[in-house]
Amino acid sequence: MAKPAVISVIGSLNVDLVTRTSRVPVGGETLTSESFDIGFGGKGANQAVACARLSRTEKQALNGEASDVEVRMVGAVGDDQFSPDFLKSLRKDGLNTDKIKVLPGKKTGVAVIIVETQSGENRIMFCPGANYDVKVEDLVDDDASVALFQLELPLDVVLHNMKVARDKGVETIINPAPAIPLPDEAYSGLGHLIVNETEASILSGIENPTSWDKVAAVFVSRGVKNVIITLGGDGVYYQTEKRQSESLPGKIVPARKVKVVDTTAAGDTFAGAYSVAVAHWKAMSRGSDFDLDVAIAHANRAASMTVQKKGAQSSIPWANEVPEA
Ligand code: ATP
Repeated sequence: MAKPAVISVIGSLNVDLVTRTSRVPVGGETLTSESFDIGFGGKGANQAVACARLSRTEKQALNGEASDVEVRMVGAVGDDQFSPDFLKSLRKDGLNTDKIKVLPGKKTGVAVIIVETQSGENRIMFCPGANYDVKVEDLVDDDASVALFQLELPLDVVLHNMKVARDKGVETIINPAPAIPLPDEAYSGLGHLIVNETEASILSGIENPTSWDKVAAVFVSRGVKNVIITLGGDGVYYQTEKRQSESLPGKIVPARKVKVVDTTAAGDTFAGAYSVAVAHWKAMSRGSDFDLDVAIAHANRAASMTVQKKGAQSSIPWANEVPEA
């Protein structure tokens, strides 16, 4: 087999501690909860799992077989009781964990989640731990074909790695969540910006946008080559630097019509599937243009599987579970 394309996902790793109760306790009260579960997440880890699953079948991962895309998680955990099981779970999904730093004396990022079943409301206490303790020099990664970023690590770590990737000709993709205003250098020469409607509005500075073309034009003027705005059940809007230079409007790629159970991790699945398509293109393109229509339609089909299942990482499909076009 030819050398696999490498996707590096530079992002967060968090453990979700989830307890369910009919009502939340008041101050000073102790309640017995209905259940307790430990889940592995963080936007970085979720998107890395999506890249790994969407570039191999479950059977390939179970048998430890190589795929044509290697997915590497680049991030940090603590040397506590959570990290060994976290790394084991990522490896089970076929991920390379060699570039996950285990920080001595630090704690893995944790979200303590109380689900109140009566109201359906969640209360979440998030402690970023190792994700925020990490320093620029801990996480330098520069030999991938595709680098995928989010904003759950310190901004200097993200910006430094984006620059290293760009300078080395690595294809850069960012899903800037949670959305915070970014400096111009984040956009300049950026390959692919994937945002949902809220993020598109916050980052472009256009409140209640009435035209996605106007929003996309802001990002293109800052130096982004491909702008992808996910619109939930309405699918995806995209615009490219090339189309805009030819005065062509953006395009909509519709979502699949499915029965929605839980949309958690839909955005992460979309970003993962799209990144795998970029990696395949990088490996095979020989100078041809990236086909956004095909990549987005595929990512929509992958995310449509996620919204039909409850849960976060557990609802991300394997490549063989994504319906054909
Ligand atoms: P989340 O935070 O829930 O993970 P997001 O807000 O980042 O998601 P969305 O735009 O809501 O992103 O959804 C991402 C993608 O998931 C959509 O572009 C679409 O492909 C798929 N999707 C989301 N909602 C639906 C739906 N109701 N029906 C079909 N597909 C959906």
